[in-house]
Amino acid sequence: MRFVDEFRDGALARGLAQAIAAEARPGRTYNLMEFCGGHTHAISRYGLTDLLPANVHMIHGPGCPVCVLPIGRIDSAIELARRPGLVLCTYADTMRVPASQGISLLKAKARGADVRMVYSSADAVKIAVDHPDRDVVFFAIGFETTTPPTAVAIRHAEAMGLANFSVFCNHVLTPSAIANILESRDVREIGTVPLDGFVGPAHVSTVIGSQPYEYFAEEYRRPVVIAGFEPLDVMQAVRMLVRQLNEGRAEVENEFTRAVTREGNAKAKALVAEVFELRKSFEWRGLGEVPYSALRIKERYRPYDAEARYGIGYRSVPDHRACECGAILRGVKSPADCKVFGTVCTPDNPIGSCMVSSEGACAAHYTYGRFRSVPVVGRGAPPKAAPAGVPAAEVAP
Ligand code: SF4
Repeated sequence: MRFVDEFRDGALARGLAQAIAAEARPGRTYNLMEFCGGHTHAISRYGLTDLLPANVHMIHGPGCPVCVLPIGRIDSAIELARRPGLVLCTYADTMRVPASQGISLLKAKARGADVRMVYSSADAVKIAVDHPDRDVVFFAIGFETTTPPTAVAIRHAEAMGLANFSVFCNHVLTPSAIANILESRDVREIGTVPLDGFVGPAHVSTVIGSQPYEYFAEEYRRPVVIAGFEPLDVMQAVRMLVRQLNEGRAEVENEFTRAVTREGNAKAKALVAEVFELRKSFEWRGLGEVPYSALRIKERYRPYDAEARYGIGYRSVPDHRACECGAILRGVKSPADCKVFGTVCTPDNPIGSCMVSSEGACAAHYTYGRFRSVPVVGRGAPPKAAPAGVPAAEVAP
């Protein structure tokens, strides 16, 4: 398959690994954060860390849209779904994220709420068209990749005069999250997350382009290499980052030239700007409140804003006390550091959000058996045979 098979070539991967090993200087370490869950998945699936020299460390970032959604937002969606006559539509993974008291949208559905899995925002609009007697809410989540289709859905609903459709908007922004990580205490003050550079997002960058990363590459002196989601993309990005660090450069480079330009997709960006505006603040799981890191629906499209229509407020809810998702999303810990990883918490029975989506660090580690110790502060023990110190009854949903 074009643009897939040639980016999974084992011989080329081994050649790249040799090149990285030759360029990585023995006297230093290279701590590289892959922001996106797609990269985390590729690294685990293809065993890329096994190919890298011991002084090149990959650190998982918060770029999994399901993982970063805080419990309070899912609680609000469940409250909506329980309203008589209302249909709540969302993506499959979102339905499985545990919220307060172990409830998820899937469990709410089992208890009678009308929650429907959709593949796209257009599916949700169609459900509203097909059921004019029902209020239909699309629970929209995701980074810049999924935001334009939500904008299209709202514009489409307006053009059709569809009064029974609205959107519960939870779209978040990548550059603000990266800047927040670099500003965080873990990175700046206590240094528990030594970060030398970033493997930049693939799909997100097809929309926003490479230009938005230029500010913090320069401001924080950290190189960024935008990379595709295939294994050779990631290996090549690592090589480019190692080379930049060796040469003392902190630039934005684009490995994913087959899909990403500096300017991005002008039409998609215009659509988003037409329908959405910045929120002053938004809570991320793991990162806490991050200023100007999410979008809300503009006043002009208020009839399609579920938060306004149903008076949805926000209540912050702490994660389950056994769950380390917050630390994993900040790059402070690895999935194997969690006491319930792979025992009580599995993809079939997720306790935290990182075990839900295939892009989540815990799910990727569990699925592909990647428990290798990573010698970064606070990381690395292999999974326990049993959830030491945490009775199963306490963590069962
Ligand atoms: S293994 Fe489960 S409980 Fe532990 S951090 Fe990952 S998602 Fe959270």
